[in-house]
Amino acid sequence: PAPSRMRMLSPGPKGSRSRSRPPPLGRDFEMGNVLGEGAYSTVNLAKNTQTGQEFAIKIMYKEHLRRHNKTNMAFVEKDALIKIQTAGGHPGIVRLERTWQDNWSFFYVLSLARNGDIQSLLFRLGSLSLTCARYYAAQLVDAVAFMHSVNVIHRDLKPENLLLDDAFRIKLTDFGTAKVLDCFDGRARTFVGTAQYQAPELLTASHTTRSSDLWAIGCNIYQMIAGRFPFFGPSDYLIFEKIKRLDYDFPEGFDSQAKDIVRKLLVLDPSQRLGAGAPGTENDVAALKAHPLFAPVKWDTLWTDPAPPHE
Ligand code: ATP
Repeated sequence: PAPSRMRMLSPGPKGSRSRSRPPPLGRDFEMGNVLGEGAYSTVNLAKNTQTGQEFAIKIMYKEHLRRHNKTNMAFVEKDALIKIQTAGGHPGIVRLERTWQDNWSFFYVLSLARNGDIQSLLFRLGSLSLTCARYYAAQLVDAVAFMHSVNVIHRDLKPENLLLDDAFRIKLTDFGTAKVLDCFDGRARTFVGTAQYQAPELLTASHTTRSSDLWAIGCNIYQMIAGRFPFFGPSDYLIFEKIKRLDYDFPEGFDSQAKDIVRKLLVLDPSQRLGAGAPGTENDVAALKAHPLFAPVKWDTLWTDPAPPHE
């Protein structure tokens, strides 16, 4: 059996194997509580012993990844985050501070998002006020616009992957199913992600482009306001059938501007979604940011202004 993760990070007893081959970078971090568990990882609070700064360390056990044929996921996540950081990073996207591995696990040191995620907020509140939903939708759009500008598609945008930092601003995470494209028109051809947010082109033609993330943004906006998925059903198959037929409706009282943006994002033809045009064209991401729902949003100070109260 593999040794415990704590043991892997702490220097072993004198003369032990771990003393002769100490984990090269793990010694800089003191492990704290478990922050969360994913299907393929455990995420722990950790403190840099030199600086005192706190981080989240995502630990992926290699054998578990191998058994589920997901080793590539760890590499994809690292590649995508490095690509984003090399381009300067974005305040709404989790930062990969450092990585290392030992015989058993990969370790990714990530910026800490202490306040849970939008999904837990939705569990707690049922749905978000229009002001809150607009704020988080704007942050999501801004983060995704940056990610797309550096040729990364996320492919699994959902409230669980929108973490909340100390200031209750979003930090987009979970790039394990992302795709790093070579060029603007690149298409990815694998089925990944979560049923409720799958764009129809993925179900019919098995390819995804940046525009698939726009579809998912539409689903996220709907869910934040309605408190439920636009497309739901007892099985993935039935959900997919509804997606392909665009079979959804709005609950009573759903704001009319929010309805309009959702309708313009949940469009079967990926090229016709709001914001899906190439940069510099009429329907580029600027058109999405210019939608009336976002009229009150101050894009320049979106990442420094305080978050609206949750209600
Ligand atoms: P999935 O099951 O979605 O594939 P995963 O194995 O890729 O998950 P993540 O979703 O990245 O793992 O993380 C698992 C959980 O750990 C998250 O749901 C969250 O609760 C917590 N977590 C992840 N990253 C951070 C972070 N940077 N700061 C705080 N908590 C985090």
